[in-house]
Amino acid sequence: MNEKQFEAFQLGLTRKLSLIQGPPGTGKSAVALNIVQRILEKTSCTILVVTFQKYNLDKFLMDCSALTEKIVRIGGYLGDSRLERFTLDNTVQDPRIHRIRRQCIAQYENLMNIFADKLKINDRNEDHSHDALMHILNEVQKTSLKGQELHQLHLYKECRGARIIGMTTTGIAKYSCLLKLIRPSVVIMEEAENSPECQVITALTEYTQQLIFVGEAKRIGFLKDLHFDIPCRNTSLFERLVENDINNILLNVQHRMHPNISDLVRETLYPDLIDGDNVKSYQPIRGISKNLFCVVLKGLSPNDDSLLEQFPVQNQEKLSKESFHEILFSCSLANYLRQQGYKAHEIVIFTTGSDNEVEALEAFLVLFPLLKDVRVKSMEKFQGQECRILIVSLATTDQNPNIESMSRDDRLCVLLTRAQEGLYIVGQLDLYVEMNETWRKVKENLESKGCIGPILSIKCEKHGCEILAAGVEDFLKFSQEGCPTGTLDKENPCIESN
Ligand SMILES: [Zn+2]
Repeated sequence: MNEKQFEAFQLGLTRKLSLIQGPPGTGKSAVALNIVQRILEKTSCTILVVTFQKYNLDKFLMDCSALTEKIVRIGGYLGDSRLERFTLDNTVQDPRIHRIRRQCIAQYENLMNIFADKLKINDRNEDHSHDALMHILNEVQKTSLKGQELHQLHLYKECRGARIIGMTTTGIAKYSCLLKLIRPSVVIMEEAENSPECQVITALTEYTQQLIFVGEAKRIGFLKDLHFDIPCRNTSLFERLVENDINNILLNVQHRMHPNISDLVRETLYPDLIDGDNVKSYQPIRGISKNLFCVVLKGLSPNDDSLLEQFPVQNQEKLSKESFHEILFSCSLANYLRQQGYKAHEIVIFTTGSDNEVEALEAFLVLFPLLKDVRVKSMEKFQGQECRILIVSLATTDQNPNIESMSRDDRLCVLLTRAQEGLYIVGQLDLYVEMNETWRKVKENLESKGCIGPILSIKCEKHGCEILAAGVEDFLKFSQEGCPTGTLDKENPCIESN
């Protein structure tokens, strides 16, 4: 642990409320894990771990499984199969519980029928008592609640003896009754920027002694995308506590991004960010001269129409020709990196858009056999995660995309901090630069490093030839014919078959 991490570790163990925050890659989860380890060793407390995303819950619980076997993961199961043994079996075996639940369901159905009948009478007779309807609704609610509580009471048997309980924010709202029975004394809220008060409160019981928030105040909180009809602050409790500097430690040594990439973050969002030693020894990207580049394609390709025919993607008519070329360029670049020997799971194609853009990109991936297992992720789905090489597609499928919201600082922060070794941005950066001052600084930084332009310089690792990729055709030509030396040297092909 570095100095700041140790400070955060001490704070987390000694304060009733503590905030551990920091830019991506600064080891927030590692500190939280150390805190968990110490609590397990020195006390008999039960720890509740809450995350916003299932993926992050699985990741944290996998790390915890090295410390104890007494883990229960509550909620729907999707992720890591190694956690199956910890996942709470939601099925109820006890016949007594089944009997009472059946009674509850019958009573519920009966009440709903009475309610529907009364409503019909009410339609004919406006004077019919409103109170009578409300009374039945109350009864319906009570019966439904009774059924749920009974179910959770049963689940409690499975949770007894557990030292770590893992749930998502959705889970804590759904299993609040179960939490009251488990009485966790330590609550760790990961991705705290995504936890509104109502969910934080559900996680707390009268037995809670310690609450530790772990998060990043500058990351997207999904609260920012909610629009309420009534005036309401769309910042999370965590962000407001950070603003007020309450028991707050900001970690500042990052162990994820290559210094070229972290420079962009340092000069825009986190001026105090320091690079850890590990990121200084990353190897250069194979087959590309620079590990950071923004490709701003110039106009359309001369073989425009032939490419449209050559890549017959679904819903092609929905894409502007510019977007078609940009998306195709992003996929060709990913394909080229696969040819250079990078594994599919090491490359992520990332869109600043939404599900429509993910769909458009996936339609192109199908046309490249090497990209079968390469992931396409939207901003919301990839926050909190990282990959070796990130290709960012700025192309949109919408004619009038909401660039203003897409260019927000918190979104830019997610975009800049996912990649470990290589970050390539493809698209019209100026749209974002016009909307947001921070993007302008990013552009200036890229310009000062010579890392932005209409042409990406790639090189054949085998023969050392440099190739200028200004469009998809250049990647295609390299795939089919190889570099100029490789064309003559048939014994030593430029690309090893994967
Ligand atoms: Zn070659």
